[in-house]
Amino acid sequence: MRGAARAESQQQGWAVNDTADVVIIGGGIQGLSLAYHLALRGATDVCLLEKDTLGAGSSGRSAAIIGHGFPNEHCLPLVQLSYAAFMRFQEELGFDPGYEPIGCLLMGGTEGAPALRQRHALLKELGVDSQLLDPAAISELTPGLYLDDIEVGLYSASEGCLEPHSIMMAYAHQARRLGARILEGVEVTGLEIKGSRVAGVRTSSGPIATPCVVNAAGFRAQTVAAWAGMDLPITNVKRHIFCTGPVATYTGPIPFTYEVELPWYMRREGPGLLIGMGNAETREEDPKVDWSFLDEVIDHSLYRAPALIDAGIQSGWAGLRPITPDDDPILGPAPHLAGFFNDCGWGGHGIMHAPAGGQILAEWIIDGEATCVDTRHFRAERFRSPRSWKL
Ligand SMILES: Cc1cc2nc3c(=O)[nH]c(=O)nc-3n(C[C@H](O)[C@H](O)[C@H](O)COP(=O)(O)OP(=O)(O)OC[C@H]3O[C@@H](n4cnc5c(N)ncnc54)[C@H](O)[C@@H]3O)c2cc1C
Repeated sequence: MRGAARAESQQQGWAVNDTADVVIIGGGIQGLSLAYHLALRGATDVCLLEKDTLGAGSSGRSAAIIGHGFPNEHCLPLVQLSYAAFMRFQEELGFDPGYEPIGCLLMGGTEGAPALRQRHALLKELGVDSQLLDPAAISELTPGLYLDDIEVGLYSASEGCLEPHSIMMAYAHQARRLGARILEGVEVTGLEIKGSRVAGVRTSSGPIATPCVVNAAGFRAQTVAAWAGMDLPITNVKRHIFCTGPVATYTGPIPFTYEVELPWYMRREGPGLLIGMGNAETREEDPKVDWSFLDEVIDHSLYRAPALIDAGIQSGWAGLRPITPDDDPILGPAPHLAGFFNDCGWGGHGIMHAPAGGQILAEWIIDGEATCVDTRHFRAERFRSPRSWKL
């Protein structure tokens, strides 16, 4: 299906009796980045299927931060690659990714400080801008904090905040312009497998024959992987964000201020603040705000930032972080099923890694291997023996 007929069917929510070279399951930031990177490399017969609307999953609910201090060591090359890609995003895609270098400040007490010191040494080796701060220097950057139990801060002035919706729309627009199909309201309900190869997907709008399927299903990645006989160890953990009205102490700029042990964080959002804190594993797919959790958030916020005493909570939302046991994503081909790829388990770091995820998967699919960074660690085989995966 090409040209005018295709454009019309995209508008109408069409019947999907079709074929594609690649089907991507999931229209979050990772699936969209992949659609763009495939199309950019000339693989334009791509069909991305999103059961809801683009960004309806975790990608539309994040705190939107990119910082080299957050992901694990294995992901550092990915965040470096992504940071560089975001810096040239406007030039490459013609859209503003909304980057604001507000600075990132991670702080830790007895438990968290050693890892922050280690990360600082590593970042210095890699030539990444970062400084170690004592509590006095922390309170110059973010005033109004209680710091008696904080030992050290890891600060980078050049890191900050992105605009995930703009990034997703830019990827979607450019992927479509290059020929990819990006369809909302189409749910993938199963895989077609012939022998030990992927042959297609079943969807709420009909089947699509394809030799290549990518699992970018975010909080549903475990379900999709199970269709391929894989039991991926991903746990969906709920995280809340609450927004306040203006707070007298915080009318000026402050960095993204993140306490590593809990974790708890805050940054400016409009005239007020955005405050985030994690809670528990959940089976919810469309997580709602648990207002009883607000008491816990307020308690800790007033402990860590007593200046918040005059803050009024104005809104809140909750989202899911699909987390693996080592908090690194699961990327790459399934060894037992040709044509099936995972691009999932991004936990709390999928926004900052969007360019890297898309580029890595596009290389694997088009070139048969990913060469932009060392990807060996990210294979699903680090958790399970492929012998346990049965079709
Ligand atoms: C509160 C919060 C704060 C966060 N803060 C940050 C941050 O500051 N920085 C950062 O980098 N990351 C952050 N994250 C993490 C980040 O949001 C995620 O890692 C990222 O959005 C994952 O993107 P994704 O594309 O893999 O998944 P998603 O955005 O969840 O996309 C998956 C999509 O797949 C669709 N789907 C699922 N199953 C099917 C199916 N069968 N058929 C069709 N479609 C399907 C879903 O509807 C969904 O839209 C945060 C997360 C939360 C919850």
